[in-house]
Amino acid sequence: MNYISTRGQVEPVKFQDAVLMGLADDGGLIVPESIPDIADKLDEWSKLDYPQLAFEIIRLFVSDMPDDDLKSLVDKTYGPAFDGGVAPVAEVGGLFVQELWHGPTLAFKDVALQFLGNLFEYILANRGGRLTILGATSGDTGSAAIYGVRGRAGIDIFVMHPAGRVSPIQERQMTTVADANVHNIAVEGTFDDCQNIMKALAGDLEFKRQYSLGAVNSVNWARVLAQIVYYFHGFFEMQKRTGAESIRVAVPTGNFGDVLAGWYAIQMGLPISQLVLATNENDILTRFFSTGEYSTAEVYETLSPSMDIQVASNFERYLYYKVGCDAEILRRLMDGFGETGSLRVDCGNGGVVDPVFVAALARQEEVLETIGKYHERYDYVLDPHTAVGVCVAEKLAGPADEPVMCLATAHPAKFPAAIDKATGKKGLATHPAIEAIMEMPTRCQTLPNDKQAIRQFIKQVMDARLAGGGQ
Ligand SMILES: *Cc1c(COP(=O)(O)O)cnc(C)c1O
Repeated sequence: MNYISTRGQVEPVKFQDAVLMGLADDGGLIVPESIPDIADKLDEWSKLDYPQLAFEIIRLFVSDMPDDDLKSLVDKTYGPAFDGGVAPVAEVGGLFVQELWHGPTLAFKDVALQFLGNLFEYILANRGGRLTILGATSGDTGSAAIYGVRGRAGIDIFVMHPAGRVSPIQERQMTTVADANVHNIAVEGTFDDCQNIMKALAGDLEFKRQYSLGAVNSVNWARVLAQIVYYFHGFFEMQKRTGAESIRVAVPTGNFGDVLAGWYAIQMGLPISQLVLATNENDILTRFFSTGEYSTAEVYETLSPSMDIQVASNFERYLYYKVGCDAEILRRLMDGFGETGSLRVDCGNGGVVDPVFVAALARQEEVLETIGKYHERYDYVLDPHTAVGVCVAEKLAGPADEPVMCLATAHPAKFPAAIDKATGKKGLATHPAIEAIMEMPTRCQTLPNDKQAIRQFIKQVMDARLAGGGQ
């Protein structure tokens, strides 16, 4: 399998180079040259456990790694790091919830970032060299990325988060990690500012080469790939429990990474009839799938901070397919978007942008109501991101014979303020991992919202680390 850029100006590369490249060198996103069709494998795959399934799916996209190596990498990833299974499906009232938060940082991002950490280590061990990972986080990516690579030889990680705009727990999950290869930066700006700085530095090819910059943001193809797996696993679980031949999946969305993995799963032949895309008040994606117009607006702070995003970095991958894999049209659209903050695609007959997606937003009061309701009726606590998905799934209910599975993207203990507010009770949502970090010392550098300041800081830290041997 070869990988190409959505903007068409990068020579095809194999999987490992695609992973190291992160963002494509021409500013585009890396996509596989083709999407494998697996419809005839569904029966066989339905009997596999999570690591076996992950191996079978991932190997279809990886042609530059021996099967045995990939197998041990996958087994190592989806073992004890996940407490209580990788992606178990719970039934709550009539609702199915796929719990994706059993990893070390209690958010679904662990599923991909534990894999990516192991993958980076494998690639560097084989090729030699170092990697400087630069990430931007609206909350959960940062800690999941840090836990993916903490203490690993040859890797340094710099994570930018918007100062004061992630929850105190999210901040502590990042800044309490004491390993010398972990560097936290609080940027005086929004998440989109952090993401823009990351993209600008990744586009500074000289800097990128000098420090071997790599990306862990959801632009990294390996993340999307790892996330495809749980859609399959969830479908098989749902099939066993309900006998359904196809399902709908509700996905709370920010950067369009998680839901894009579901879209790939559908293209591969998994019988998911529809993706129910759920946003909070930051609804650029909801507006797009309702009107065909993709245009940025102001970023609102909500109870689901990991979805407080107005430019979804993975959207370009979807758009590429939407324009018939024509890199030239895509480039024109993205250039226009860069200038005006808006782009438009044609709706098909009946004004539907894409029949695979239905979309709606859930406002904060609806989110609180949803959390309260599920707690009261079923004694089950939804985190505020998951509750966005559940709320929208209820609004856009489909046919009765087609069950919906809601992706639960975080453990509620990460967002106690929202849970307290929704339920009127204190201390409902707890987790030992969260209690532990509340007492630990923290480490973080606050810097202005300025690309040059961040560049300078990375340079300074890395030059000192490299001079000292870099372990
Ligand atoms: C990151 C995150 C999301 C959004 O995921 P995307 O892949 O960016 O759409 C939703 N919920 C939680 C808890 C998250 O951490």
